[in-house]
Amino acid sequence: MGLTLASETLSLPLRDPFRIARAEPGAGTRITTVIVEVRDDRIPDVVGIGEGYPDRFYGETPETMAAVFPALLEAIGSFDATVDGLIAADHRMERAIRGHGAAKCAIDVALHDLVGKVQGVPVHVLRGLSAETPPTDFTLGIDEPEVVAERARRAADFPALKIKVGGPADLATLRAVRRVYAGPIRVDANTGWTRHDAEALLPELLDMGVELIEQPFHARAYRDLGWLQERSPLPIVADESCVFPEDLEALRDVVAGINVKLAKCGGIGPAYRMLVEGRRMGFRTFLGCMEETSVVIAASAVVASLAEWVDLDGCLLLENDPFEGLELRPDKRWRLSDRPGLGVVRKGT
Ligand SMILES: [Mg+2]
Repeated sequence: MGLTLASETLSLPLRDPFRIARAEPGAGTRITTVIVEVRDDRIPDVVGIGEGYPDRFYGETPETMAAVFPALLEAIGSFDATVDGLIAADHRMERAIRGHGAAKCAIDVALHDLVGKVQGVPVHVLRGLSAETPPTDFTLGIDEPEVVAERARRAADFPALKIKVGGPADLATLRAVRRVYAGPIRVDANTGWTRHDAEALLPELLDMGVELIEQPFHARAYRDLGWLQERSPLPIVADESCVFPEDLEALRDVVAGINVKLAKCGGIGPAYRMLVEGRRMGFRTFLGCMEETSVVIAASAVVASLAEWVDLDGCLLLENDPFEGLELRPDKRWRLSDRPGLGVVRKGT
């Protein structure tokens, strides 16, 4: 008696090349993500769909995920298909093994979908969360400034753009984007700047009306992050520095904001805890994603009402999302499903 899991690794092409400052050479044209189906053998007809995006930067691959799935299921033990059961599963996975956010995310998301379907309610209703969420921004990877500007022109109907920076053309790129896009610009250096870069760029970013600066320095460079936040009227947002709930304490009085992602922290349960606790501690909250299918984007949208800023565009970056059911409204807010569970199904099923 218990939970069983089947997993499938997908390699999916991206719509546009997507490069970030700390990308490995050759990365940026396809992504790898792991889809899981979880069943409780007492209710074998109900399938919970989950997804975890393995990122080598956080120490995960499809192989590490496959290796820890059995240990995580064993830690959960006998599963109660209720909200209390979900909360217990979250804590048991957290205690069972440190890290492995994507593996935990895949299971946590699948269990939420499963419980929603068993109880006949959408997941956000199950967790007592609002369907009113901030609109998502749209992210553009590093490329030639004119190429990025052309993509910005195509994404002009989004209420904010997130621009990847962390190279010699940063200023030229941001100026080129600013010429074609009047809305808020969020810059993400993915650990690619030095103090010198940041100091030189800051007045220009203020001039251009940039809204926030994400992860300028290395993940553990707390002193540098605090140094910049002291000088910057713009909020500095920690992403690579902010992975698990326990990271919040080290970032207190260092940066103004935190970027929470399901793939980093381990799914809906830990993301909910991080957003609630982060707000209580006075952080401004950003909810982000990886280049995932609409399974994780639908799961992220469940907690989006707890965030001030939302960057949930992963499935929009894919050439062909293998799932359907999640709808982006014209105002770029995700429409949370009114169907039981997450409301996403594999295309063609
Ligand atoms: Mg980031």
